[in-house]
Amino acid sequence: MRENIDGHFLLIGLMAYPIRHSLSPKMQNIIYAKLDIPYVYLAFEVTQDKLADCVKGLRAMGLRGSAVSMPNKQAVCQYLDKLTPAVELIGACNTISNDDGILTGYNTDGMGYMRSLKEAGVKVIGQKMTLLGAGGAASAIAVQAALDGVKSISIFNQQDECYDKMAQIVKRINDNTDCQARIYDLNDQTKLRQEIAESVVLCHATGVGMKPLEGQSLITDASLLRPDLVVTDCIYSPRKTKLLELAQAQGCKILNGIGMMLWQGHAQIKIWTGQDAPIDYVKEKMG
Ligand code: NAD
Repeated sequence: MRENIDGHFLLIGLMAYPIRHSLSPKMQNIIYAKLDIPYVYLAFEVTQDKLADCVKGLRAMGLRGSAVSMPNKQAVCQYLDKLTPAVELIGACNTISNDDGILTGYNTDGMGYMRSLKEAGVKVIGQKMTLLGAGGAASAIAVQAALDGVKSISIFNQQDECYDKMAQIVKRINDNTDCQARIYDLNDQTKLRQEIAESVVLCHATGVGMKPLEGQSLITDASLLRPDLVVTDCIYSPRKTKLLELAQAQGCKILNGIGMMLWQGHAQIKIWTGQDAPIDYVKEKMG
């Protein structure tokens, strides 16, 4: 508990619903205390019908910024003054920075994922990756990977509304970056085998593998995974999903979603404070 809060402290919000389960307030406040930054981070239950008023309030009350999560990531973009190229391509923002009344929307999920690969020594720039999923996490990862210089991205998803939205993002990636993106039906196992065989990284970004689908994996045939493939899962609870167990048994290097989560927080703190969050300290404190 910080004992030095005074009239100079600024507020950073988190606007989402539901949100009481989030680990972000704990993580962010640990860092501000450690770095002795006069910010406090608090979660607010914000449904979409209240979003416009909340952004007005953020502006009027001079909050330093806010994180944004579901269901507000897409809708919030219309209320902001500026959007980063990544947010323009993804169509969703998870971070607002208020700089003297100018609100800029960022998306740090993909930044966190790409940084977690880099920190683990995984080299994917100029190479191909296969991505399973087409929701919020997958969209952010695909766009950031393309902007960072991944040469080609093969995306697989079931035929649902996420697939259709990702098809539009794929077009935007191909029109605006040097990366070649493609989207395929997850049921096309022949294509999946072929694309994974040509990839250096397989990234899983759906909820399959966490509750209520814990113990399940979109990949069940271990022969799709070769030992020099890096297999990553955005899920961090459980720490080792069924997919990661399968991949580890095949001799693959594996990464769970903890790194993505920590590094996306690091990116947010860099935006709001200009400082580098002590990631090892956070890991130790969060357990
Ligand atoms: P989302 O709801 O936006 O997207 C869900 C995706 O899963 C879609 O592509 C959907 O088609 C697919 N899907 C759902 N049920 C499926 C099934 N039975 N079979 C095949 N595909 C199915 O969710 P999201 O926000 O993109 O999150 C995806 C995962 O990433 C979640 O597990 C979430 O916890 C995780 N995540 C992790 C981080 C992190 O920092 N590590 C950040 C964001 C999300």
